[in-house]
Amino acid sequence: MTQDVVDLRSDTVTQPTAAMRAAMLAAPLGDDVFGDDPSVLTLQEKIAALLGHEAALFVPTGTQSNLCAILAHCQRGDEYIVGQMAHCYRWEGGGAAVMGSVQPQPLNHQADGSLLLSDIEAAIKPDDAHFARTRLLALENTLGGKLLPMDYVQQASALAQRYGLVRHLDGARLFNAAVAQAERSGGTVLEQARAIATCFDSVSVCFSKGLGAPVGSALCGSKDFIARAHRIRKMAGGGMRQSGMLAAAALYALEHHVARLADDHALARRLAQGLQGLDLLAVEPPHTNIVFVDLLGAARAQSEALLAYLKSHGILATGLYRLRLVTHLNVNAQGVDRTVAAIRAFLTTLPGSGQRGT
Ligand SMILES: *Cc1c(COP(=O)(O)O)cnc(C)c1O
Repeated sequence: MTQDVVDLRSDTVTQPTAAMRAAMLAAPLGDDVFGDDPSVLTLQEKIAALLGHEAALFVPTGTQSNLCAILAHCQRGDEYIVGQMAHCYRWEGGGAAVMGSVQPQPLNHQADGSLLLSDIEAAIKPDDAHFARTRLLALENTLGGKLLPMDYVQQASALAQRYGLVRHLDGARLFNAAVAQAERSGGTVLEQARAIATCFDSVSVCFSKGLGAPVGSALCGSKDFIARAHRIRKMAGGGMRQSGMLAAAALYALEHHVARLADDHALARRLAQGLQGLDLLAVEPPHTNIVFVDLLGAARAQSEALLAYLKSHGILATGLYRLRLVTHLNVNAQGVDRTVAAIRAFLTTLPGSGQRGT
């Protein structure tokens, strides 16, 4: 009997459900470059209202969304302050510098994913011909699956405002953050999403991650900002035509797949608990849907062998020395338990692994 593949590489691998596909097929369509695709217009109005911003722009990817944001906020010779591990610094091909001549000023993260307020303050350059003009602070929430504390987000936002910087949030997984924050502090998920989003001048959210849509992100901000971003989206080749089919998937996801992110978080906790206490592993308790597992001792040298072993058991994961396991719509408890059992079985073949945790 063949078993289903448990794909823990990313929440981007989610397949559209039958109901989402039906919504895509049924979507009323126009031509979004002419501005008359009703499904795209509905999505843009809905996500902007949901997140407490004036306007929104539907874009093919989160990378393009961040690029449009940075270029719409900054001029050539400006700089943005950003974390070393932030997607819009590290994982986007240097697009802001390449295409916008906007220089990043990366800062190291604290263990909780935040940037120290004093580091941010020290990185803001005085108005002097020697320096790039510091224009923007870009934060990410969640970052590596970690929820930034709300009081930190408010303080960082206020600091940026005090220095006249604009503030962008890469909220690719904003709804994961909102679900975790609602669990901690009360309020509804949508209230928490809006509370985070309104600390920023612009926010980018992904529909193609845990929300389960095949493609698409939205950039939110003021009307003027979105008008500038629209022009940049066109330059970047992101003006799409009958994109209502994709917007319909995003609308479906907003309606049906936000609250269920809590299930992904519960599965991530189940996975972490299953691995906790095993020899040769150090597991970080997850805030949301991403579990990091450090391989120690004899397991460290075997990380490629472990990934190959998991693959031969129908389990896909990534990470060298540090596994990154992501739960999502297409992973269930059985898949999580199979993953725990397979990792355990592999470790028992290594020296230094006792029976602890079994
Ligand atoms: C996935 C992701 C993006 C965008 O990725 P695309 O593949 O371009 O859609 C941006 N920021 C973060 C934090 C992400 O996780």
